[in-house]
Amino acid sequence: MKRDRNVKIVATLGPASSTYEMIRALHEAGADVFRLNMSHGKHEEIAEKHRIIRQVEKDLDSPIAILADLQGPKLRVGEFANGEEELEWGEAFRLDLDPAPGTHKRVTLPHPEIFEALTVGSHLLVNDGKIRLRVEECGEDFANCTVITGGTISNRKGVNVPDVVLPLAALSEKDRNDLEFVCSLGVDWLALSFVQRPKDVWEARELADGRAAILSKIEKPAAVEAFDEIMEVSDGIMVARGDLGVELPVQNVPPIQKRLVRKCRAAAKPVIVATQMLESMIESPMPTRAEVSDVSGAIYEGADAIMLSAESAAGQYPIEAVTTMNNVAIEVESDPTYREIIEASRHAHRASVADGIVAAAREIAETTDIKAICCFTSSGTTAALVSRERPRVPIIAMTSLRGTARRMSLHWGTMTVMTGELERFKQAVVNAARAARKNGFVEEHDQIVVTAGVPFNVPGSTNILRVAPCDERLIYSTDPE
Ligand code: ATP
Ligand code: MG
Ligand code: MG
Repeated sequence: MKRDRNVKIVATLGPASSTYEMIRALHEAGADVFRLNMSHGKHEEIAEKHRIIRQVEKDLDSPIAILADLQGPKLRVGEFANGEEELEWGEAFRLDLDPAPGTHKRVTLPHPEIFEALTVGSHLLVNDGKIRLRVEECGEDFANCTVITGGTISNRKGVNVPDVVLPLAALSEKDRNDLEFVCSLGVDWLALSFVQRPKDVWEARELADGRAAILSKIEKPAAVEAFDEIMEVSDGIMVARGDLGVELPVQNVPPIQKRLVRKCRAAAKPVIVATQMLESMIESPMPTRAEVSDVSGAIYEGADAIMLSAESAAGQYPIEAVTTMNNVAIEVESDPTYREIIEASRHAHRASVADGIVAAAREIAETTDIKAICCFTSSGTTAALVSRERPRVPIIAMTSLRGTARRMSLHWGTMTVMTGELERFKQAVVNAARAARKNGFVEEHDQIVVTAGVPFNVPGSTNILRVAPCDERLIYSTDPE
C-alpha cells in the first residue's frame, strides 16, 4: 500500500486485534507487517489471523509481510486464576512447579532448570523487568521471594534471571513444532528469540529450508558481542529492547541500538526497533512525549521499521498507536535534519555492478527531476540495495514473485508491485511506468529511473539502468527491445 513515509510499521496481533475489520483497519492506518507471537495463542488462533491477513491482502491488493516470532528459550510464568494479580513492595510471592492456577501468593514457573540454578539473593525480573523479585529461600521445585518492585503480573509474562547462567538450547521442541506449523501456513519472516551465536540461526535456516526469511532478535549480551557474525547469516535483525534492557544495564541499550541500526543499513539487511515504543498507549489514547521522542529517534537513526507489541496486541488503542507512529514518521522524514543524518550515514559500498547501478539510480533521480526509482527484482536483493541508498524519491520494487513482494514490505521505503512474467525490457519499462502512475507517484509527463537485469528470466543480477518517460507512446517509440 502506498504510504507517505519510508520507515515501516510492524504491528503485533493479539486479542485486541484479531478480527478482519481490525486487521484491515490497522493495515489501512499504516501497519505494513503483522507479527504473530508464537508465545501467545494456540495454533488455530494463529492460523485464523494468518487467514485474515491474507484476505485483507487480497481485498486491498497490497502485499503484506507476516512475521512469525518463535518463543525461543524464554522463561515464562504460568496462568493466574484471575488472569492477573497486583504485587506490592515487601509482599511475599512464591514461584513453584505446581500447575494449579496462580493467586496473589504464588504462581507456576514451569522451568525446573531455574530452580536448580537459583540461589538465595538472586533476582527474578518479570515482564520486561517491570517487576523485580528477590529470592529469600529456594529448593528444587520452589522459590520464596520478596517483591522488590511491584506491579501487575499476568498470564505468561516473561521472566529473566540475569544473575544466573542457564543451560538453554536455542530452539525448543515447541519452537521446532511452531516453525514447521507457520512455514506450512506460509509466513514471510521467522523471528528467532534469544539468538546467541550464528549456529542458532543456521539451525532455524535449515529447518525453514527457504520457506521464510530469517530475522534474528538481539536480546542477549552474547548476541551483541557476536553481532557481526550473526548479522552475516541472518536476513534481518530485531533490536529486542525488552529483554536486552533486562539482560544488560538499561542505559547500554540506546548505544547498542544505534550501532546495530547502522550496521544493518550498511549490510542492506532490514532492522526493526522493538519494544515499549508507545507503551503508555496500551491504556491511553495519547502517547507520552518521551515515547514520541523514542519513536522519532529510531527513525532519525535510519531504522527500517518500528514495532508495536502489546500496544496493538492487547491494548485499548491499537489504531491510535499505529496512527501515532505514522504521524511521527511523516513529521521526522520531512525534517531537513533527518535528510542530513541519513545522507551522512550512507556507506559507499561499491562491491558489485548492482551496487554501482543502484547508487547511480539514486544520484540521477536526485540530481534531475525524476519522480521514482523502479527496480525489477526477483530475490529482492536489488530492492534491498536501493533501499540501503535511502533515496529521496519513492522506491517501487517490481517483482513477479509474491513471496518477494511480501517480504520487501519490511524494507525502508520500498513499495512492492506485482508484475507478470516479463520477457522484454521494453515491456518492463511500460509496466514500471504504469505502476508508478497508478499509485500516484508520477504524471504522464514525468520521468522515472528503471533498473533491471537483462535478459529477463536468466538468473543474474541487475545490469541495466534506463531513464524512461512515463508516457507509454514515448516508451514504445524510443525504447530498444
Ligand atoms: P516477546 O518477548 O516475544 O516480545 P512478549 O510476551 O513481550 O514476548 P509481545 O508480543 O511483545 O509479547 O507483547 C504482547 C503482549 O500482549 C504480551 O505481553 C501479552 O501479555 C499480550 N498478549 C496476550 N495475548 C497475546 C497474543 N495472542 N499475541 C500477542 N500478545 C498477546
Ligand atoms: Mg522478547
Ligand atoms: Mg515483548
